[in-house]
Amino acid sequence: MSEMNWDLFRDQVARCAMCGLCRGATHKVPGQGDEHSPLMLIGEGPGQAEDEQGLAFVGAAGQLLTRMLASIGLPRDRVYIANIVKCRPPLNRVPTDDEARACLYHLRLQTALLHPRVIVLLGATAARFTLDPAIRITRDRGRWTERKGVWMMPTYHPSALLRDESKKRDAWEDMKSLRRKLQELSLYPDLL
Ligand code: URA
Repeated sequence: MSEMNWDLFRDQVARCAMCGLCRGATHKVPGQGDEHSPLMLIGEGPGQAEDEQGLAFVGAAGQLLTRMLASIGLPRDRVYIANIVKCRPPLNRVPTDDEARACLYHLRLQTALLHPRVIVLLGATAARFTLDPAIRITRDRGRWTERKGVWMMPTYHPSALLRDESKKRDAWEDMKSLRRKLQELSLYPDLL
Protein backbone atom coordinates (compact mmCIF):
# COMPACT_ATOMS: atom_id res chain seq x y z
CA MET A 1 0.00 0.00 0.00
CA SER A 2 2.87 2.37 0.70
CA GLU A 3 3.65 2.58 -3.04
CA MET A 4 0.05 3.05 -4.07
CA ASN A 5 -0.92 6.39 -5.59
CA TRP A 6 -3.82 7.73 -7.63
CA ASP A 7 -2.17 7.07 -11.00
CA LEU A 8 -1.46 3.47 -10.07
CA PHE A 9 -4.98 3.09 -8.75
CA ARG A 10 -6.49 4.32 -12.05
CA ASP A 11 -4.10 2.14 -14.01
CA GLN A 12 -5.12 -0.87 -11.96
CA VAL A 13 -8.81 -0.21 -12.62
CA ALA A 14 -8.06 0.25 -16.33
CA ARG A 15 -6.36 -3.16 -16.50
CA CYS A 16 -8.83 -4.97 -14.23
CA ALA A 17 -10.63 -8.09 -15.43
CA MET A 18 -11.61 -9.49 -12.04
CA CYS A 19 -15.23 -9.93 -13.10
CA GLY A 20 -17.12 -10.10 -16.39
CA LEU A 21 -18.45 -6.53 -16.36
CA CYS A 22 -15.35 -5.14 -18.10
CA ARG A 23 -16.29 -7.01 -21.27
CA GLY A 24 -19.34 -4.80 -21.82
CA ALA A 25 -17.79 -1.53 -20.69
CA THR A 26 -17.05 1.30 -23.15
CA HIS A 27 -15.04 3.08 -20.46
CA LYS A 28 -14.14 2.10 -16.93
CA VAL A 29 -15.39 4.62 -14.37
CA PRO A 30 -12.86 4.71 -11.51
CA GLY A 31 -14.37 7.76 -9.80
CA GLN A 32 -13.26 11.37 -9.69
CA GLY A 33 -13.20 14.60 -7.75
CA ASP A 34 -11.04 16.32 -5.18
CA GLU A 35 -8.44 13.72 -4.16
CA HIS A 36 -7.92 15.61 -0.88
CA SER A 37 -11.61 15.80 -0.07
CA PRO A 38 -12.72 14.88 3.46
CA LEU A 39 -16.07 13.78 1.95
CA MET A 40 -16.56 10.73 -0.25
CA LEU A 41 -19.82 9.77 -1.94
CA ILE A 42 -20.31 6.20 -3.11
CA GLY A 43 -22.95 5.13 -5.63
CA GLU A 44 -23.77 1.77 -7.19
CA GLY A 45 -22.21 1.67 -10.62
CA PRO A 46 -21.94 3.55 -13.91
CA GLY A 47 -25.01 4.03 -16.08
CA GLN A 48 -25.02 4.76 -19.80
CA ALA A 49 -23.79 8.37 -19.62
CA GLU A 50 -21.01 7.39 -17.20
CA ASP A 51 -19.98 4.45 -19.39
CA GLU A 52 -19.80 6.78 -22.41
CA GLN A 53 -17.72 9.43 -20.62
CA GLY A 54 -15.70 7.40 -18.10
CA LEU A 55 -16.90 9.68 -15.30
CA ALA A 56 -19.10 8.92 -12.29
CA PHE A 57 -22.51 10.54 -11.86
CA VAL A 58 -22.68 12.63 -15.03
CA GLY A 59 -26.18 11.57 -16.20
CA ALA A 60 -29.54 12.74 -14.84
CA ALA A 61 -28.92 11.27 -11.37
CA GLY A 62 -25.53 12.96 -11.32
CA GLN A 63 -27.02 16.31 -12.18
CA LEU A 64 -29.46 15.94 -9.30
CA LEU A 65 -26.59 14.96 -7.02
CA THR A 66 -24.72 18.13 -8.05
CA ARG A 67 -27.80 20.21 -7.11
CA MET A 68 -28.19 18.39 -3.77
CA LEU A 69 -24.60 19.14 -2.86
CA ALA A 70 -24.99 22.77 -3.96
CA SER A 71 -28.09 23.06 -1.74
CA ILE A 72 -25.87 22.66 1.33
CA GLY A 73 -23.13 24.89 -0.05
CA LEU A 74 -20.81 22.22 -1.47
CA PRO A 75 -19.50 22.66 -5.02
CA ARG A 76 -19.19 19.26 -6.61
CA ASP A 77 -15.52 19.70 -7.41
CA ARG A 78 -14.78 19.83 -3.67
CA VAL A 79 -15.96 16.25 -3.04
CA TYR A 80 -14.84 12.85 -4.29
CA ILE A 81 -17.34 10.53 -6.00
CA ALA A 82 -16.97 6.80 -6.63
CA ASN A 83 -19.06 3.71 -7.18
CA ILE A 84 -19.17 0.17 -5.85
CA VAL A 85 -18.46 -1.22 -9.34
CA LYS A 86 -16.29 0.57 -11.88
CA CYS A 87 -17.87 -0.95 -15.01
CA ARG A 88 -21.45 -0.57 -16.19
CA PRO A 89 -23.66 -3.58 -15.47
CA PRO A 90 -25.69 -4.55 -18.57
CA LEU A 91 -29.02 -2.68 -18.73
CA ASN A 92 -28.09 -0.97 -15.46
CA ARG A 93 -28.93 -4.04 -13.41
CA VAL A 94 -27.76 -4.20 -9.80
CA PRO A 95 -24.24 -5.68 -9.60
CA THR A 96 -24.13 -9.27 -8.39
CA ASP A 97 -22.49 -10.08 -5.06
CA ASP A 98 -19.47 -11.53 -6.91
CA GLU A 99 -19.06 -8.46 -9.10
CA ALA A 100 -19.37 -6.08 -6.16
CA ARG A 101 -17.01 -8.11 -3.97
CA ALA A 102 -14.38 -8.27 -6.71
CA CYS A 103 -14.59 -4.52 -7.21
CA LEU A 104 -14.46 -3.73 -3.48
CA TYR A 105 -10.75 -4.34 -3.85
CA HIS A 106 -10.53 -1.10 -5.85
CA LEU A 107 -12.87 0.80 -3.56
CA ARG A 108 -10.76 -0.11 -0.52
CA LEU A 109 -7.60 1.17 -2.19
CA GLN A 110 -9.41 4.30 -3.25
CA THR A 111 -10.71 4.92 0.25
CA ALA A 112 -7.25 4.34 1.71
CA LEU A 113 -5.77 6.87 -0.72
CA LEU A 114 -8.45 9.45 -0.01
CA HIS A 115 -8.69 9.06 3.79
CA PRO A 116 -12.18 10.55 3.94
CA ARG A 117 -13.60 11.65 7.29
CA VAL A 118 -17.20 11.29 6.08
CA ILE A 119 -18.73 8.85 3.58
CA VAL A 120 -22.24 9.16 2.16
CA LEU A 121 -23.64 5.94 0.74
CA LEU A 122 -26.01 6.58 -2.13
CA GLY A 123 -28.61 3.81 -2.14
CA ALA A 124 -28.95 0.28 -0.89
CA THR A 125 -26.17 -1.29 -2.97
CA ALA A 126 -23.55 1.15 -1.70
CA ALA A 127 -24.75 0.78 1.88
CA ARG A 128 -24.99 -3.02 1.81
CA PHE A 129 -21.52 -3.65 0.46
CA THR A 130 -19.76 -1.16 2.71
CA LEU A 131 -21.73 -0.86 5.94
CA ASP A 132 -24.08 -3.75 6.54
CA PRO A 133 -25.56 -6.38 4.18
CA ALA A 134 -28.85 -6.20 6.09
CA ILE A 135 -29.42 -2.51 5.47
CA ARG A 136 -32.84 -1.37 4.29
CA ILE A 137 -32.54 2.08 2.88
CA THR A 138 -36.06 3.29 3.76
CA ARG A 139 -35.52 2.22 7.36
CA ASP A 140 -31.85 3.04 7.85
CA ARG A 141 -31.26 6.18 5.77
CA GLY A 142 -30.02 9.17 7.68
CA ARG A 143 -28.38 7.13 10.47
CA TRP A 144 -24.73 7.83 11.19
CA THR A 145 -22.26 5.05 12.00
CA GLU A 146 -18.66 5.68 12.99
CA ARG A 147 -16.05 3.17 11.84
CA LYS A 148 -12.40 3.70 12.66
CA GLY A 149 -12.89 7.46 12.82
CA VAL A 150 -14.89 7.63 9.58
CA TRP A 151 -18.53 8.75 9.74
CA MET A 152 -20.84 6.93 7.32
CA MET A 153 -24.46 7.65 6.41
CA PRO A 154 -26.72 5.89 3.93
CA THR A 155 -29.26 7.96 2.01
CA TYR A 156 -31.44 7.51 -1.04
CA HIS A 157 -29.75 7.13 -4.40
CA PRO A 158 -30.53 10.19 -6.54
CA SER A 159 -32.10 7.87 -9.17
CA ALA A 160 -34.65 6.83 -6.56
CA LEU A 161 -35.48 10.50 -6.03
CA LEU A 162 -35.99 10.95 -9.77
CA ARG A 163 -38.39 7.98 -9.77
CA ASP A 164 -40.26 8.96 -6.60
CA GLU A 165 -40.54 12.64 -5.72
CA SER A 166 -42.01 11.84 -2.30
CA LYS A 167 -38.56 10.68 -1.14
CA LYS A 168 -37.09 14.15 -1.64
CA ARG A 169 -38.20 15.46 1.75
CA ASP A 170 -36.23 12.73 3.58
CA ALA A 171 -33.29 13.20 1.24
CA TRP A 172 -33.23 16.91 2.13
CA GLU A 173 -33.20 16.00 5.85
CA ASP A 174 -30.19 13.75 5.12
CA MET A 175 -28.39 16.56 3.30
CA LYS A 176 -28.95 18.89 6.25
CA SER A 177 -27.66 16.17 8.56
CA LEU A 178 -24.59 15.86 6.34
CA ARG A 179 -23.99 19.61 6.55
CA ARG A 180 -24.27 19.44 10.38
CA LYS A 181 -21.80 16.56 10.51
CA LEU A 182 -19.29 18.40 8.31
CA GLN A 183 -19.66 21.51 10.48
CA GLU A 184 -19.32 19.49 13.70
CA LEU A 185 -16.05 18.04 12.39
CA SER A 186 -14.89 21.48 11.19
CA LEU A 187 -14.61 20.27 7.60
CA TYR A 188 -15.02 22.80 4.77
CA PRO A 189 -14.61 25.78 7.12
CA ASP A 190 -14.45 28.13 4.13
CA LEU A 191 -17.86 27.01 2.87
CA LEU A 192 -20.14 25.83 5.68
N1 URA B 1 -25.68 5.77 -10.68
C1 URA B 1 -24.66 5.37 -9.92
O1 URA B 1 -24.83 4.66 -8.94
N2 URA B 1 -23.43 5.78 -10.25
C2 URA B 1 -23.18 6.58 -11.27
O2 URA B 1 -22.02 6.91 -11.50
C3 URA B 1 -24.28 6.99 -12.06
C4 URA B 1 -25.52 6.57 -11.76
